[in-house]
Amino acid sequence: MVKQSVIVPEEIAIPAAVAMAEPPAHLPSFPPPRSSSLGLRRAGYNKLFLSQPDVASGRPSTLVDSMRASSPTHPKEASAFLSSLPDAEYKDWLTQHPSALSNFDDVVAASKGKQMVMFLDYDGTLAPIVDDPDRAFMSEQMREAVRDVARHFPTAIVSGRCRNKVFNFVRLKELYYAGSHGMDIKGPSKSTKHTKSKANPVLFQPASEFLPMMDEVYKALVEKTKFIQGSRVENNTFTLSVHYRCVEEKIWNSLSELVRSVLSDYPELRLTVGRKVLEIRPSIEWDKGKALEFLLESIGFVNYNNVFPVYIGDDRTDEDAFKVLCERGQGVGILVSKFAKETNASYSLQEPSEVNKFLRRLVAWKKLHLKE
Ligand SMILES: [Mg+2]
Repeated sequence: MVKQSVIVPEEIAIPAAVAMAEPPAHLPSFPPPRSSSLGLRRAGYNKLFLSQPDVASGRPSTLVDSMRASSPTHPKEASAFLSSLPDAEYKDWLTQHPSALSNFDDVVAASKGKQMVMFLDYDGTLAPIVDDPDRAFMSEQMREAVRDVARHFPTAIVSGRCRNKVFNFVRLKELYYAGSHGMDIKGPSKSTKHTKSKANPVLFQPASEFLPMMDEVYKALVEKTKFIQGSRVENNTFTLSVHYRCVEEKIWNSLSELVRSVLSDYPELRLTVGRKVLEIRPSIEWDKGKALEFLLESIGFVNYNNVFPVYIGDDRTDEDAFKVLCERGQGVGILVSKFAKETNASYSLQEPSEVNKFLRRLVAWKKLHLKE
């Protein structure tokens, strides 16, 4: 039997051999920064949000269980989660991950004397999650806010999408873009006061050798899933996404089996579950956290003491970046979520409209600060 990548919930991949031999005895480690002192009631919380399917068994239902466990994204689903959550428990979570808007003064006070650098996820952060991934447009107000932010701070978009696609959504040349979960990084095509005019544009593609394989797998997935109504395969250049948001739940198992059958021939790839999406990517040590570190260096912040990264994102893939900030004890991670989730982020915002308010407030604060 060909050794193949296995599915694990959300974005946490475990090597197949390990997963088969040793069923996970405990939950994946995502220590919230202040959980020990604030006493999160983890048992009930984990039951609600982190239930682990039987990864070790390799049963077909494993993947479907992971798909069901993926985050609710529609307002309807989110509110259903909220209503099922005990108030006290959600409030508990908010004490650990307070609103970045309500605690705005604390956030900016922590950045005193340091250069703030902004990192923004796209889907679910700058634009709402929608059924058709090609129509995940950001509002003009959000574009204005991001444009204003970029006037004052070096700013990067870090997305799972293909870099060109996310650029076509955002359409701001003064930003850094990291597409394919950070595997495709490019600098601004329009110089700003934060970019040296003679500097080479950043361009880093750590998985370039996988390009022919990804193209091959993309074609195979399109062919195999063409009869699954509502499914959609997206080629993000260095990663592939199989969207199942519009697929009836009763055929999720068929879809997952088809995807699994294609991937059985590609042990170099791994499969993870995101928000109503199966994602296929090269098994290399690179993620949004590595991209954040690479960008910080590229932008010129070798002296880490003088930089204050702010990363805003909504998905499991953003946890890699939150974790880097935690480990470095630097900057802040802000999770966009309407419900409690295990996270390494320090603060939270409920939805893109709150992200917009936060960005505008940041610009206003900076302008005021400049006048002093
Ligand atoms: Mg997102």
